[in-house]
Amino acid sequence: MSASGENFDLHCHSSASDGVLAPVELVRRAADRGVTTLALTDHDDVDALAEARATAAALGVRFVDGVEISVTWRGTTIHVVGLGIDPDDAILRRGLESVRGSRAVRAERIAEGLAAAGIPDSLAGAYAHAGNPRLIGRTHFARFLVERGHARDVKAVFQRFLVAGKPGHVPHQWAALADAVGWIRAAGGRAVVAHPGRYRIDRTAMRELLTEFKAAGGEGVEVVTGSHRRDQYGEFAALARELELLASRGSDFHGPGEGADLGALPPLPRGLTPVWHDW
Ligand code: AMP
Ligand code: MN
Ligand code: MN
Ligand code: MN
Repeated sequence: MSASGENFDLHCHSSASDGVLAPVELVRRAADRGVTTLALTDHDDVDALAEARATAAALGVRFVDGVEISVTWRGTTIHVVGLGIDPDDAILRRGLESVRGSRAVRAERIAEGLAAAGIPDSLAGAYAHAGNPRLIGRTHFARFLVERGHARDVKAVFQRFLVAGKPGHVPHQWAALADAVGWIRAAGGRAVVAHPGRYRIDRTAMRELLTEFKAAGGEGVEVVTGSHRRDQYGEFAALARELELLASRGSDFHGPGEGADLGALPPLPRGLTPVWHDW
């Protein structure tokens, strides 16, 4: 919530990617929680947007078509959010299709790694949690592993099984940074670096990432996100001001009880230009 009474939540997931709630339920929850402008940003897929947009219209919530694209930059996975995209744009659709294409094979390899560690049947188990089989991902494996009692919650599963050096980790090559930004721009959207505080890169590399992103046509960076600790808001606000990037705010909501809820985060720090400044 801001002084104006507006509450922008520009990053969240439905069951079309690795969120728990169906698009209709997600938008209802956002409305109930006081979100006035919502962007749905499923990973590498735009198919839930039409349904979410219709629900938002019925409930009086302003809706922004979004997507969160998986990118590999210097060997690190980076997420780039596109806001205000045209979901029917052919260039964007083709690009997303290419990113999604490798997920099924990767899932098989994750399952092999887990089987070798003594956990059988995780491929079927993960697919049972996937609302959209084209978008099978690590979160679906995590929910299966929690269900089987291998860890307390999704966060703990990631640390024990799904990150580099663990049995269910598979190195993967996603889209190139400039390609992802190009697809978003081709579809009329605004590109935003998601949760920069999560990437394990040093300060110099972070500046290089954001500089390269801007040179490719990227415009914004998430400052207030459920994927940042509170002490990181100031750090990325300063970087946004210095590098003249627009600032975004989004919960990165995946489901009730999994991290930040819709619309619940603090407002953006002062002295920033919000990504929605001209909406
Ligand atoms: P994938 O695109 O299949 O590699 O899955 C990435 C997703 O996994 C992210 O969007 C998060 O939802 C989730 N994720 C990644 N790392 C963690 C973590 N450490 N704890 C909880 N969820 C995570
Ligand atoms: Mn996710
Ligand atoms: Mn992300
Ligand atoms: Mn996300």
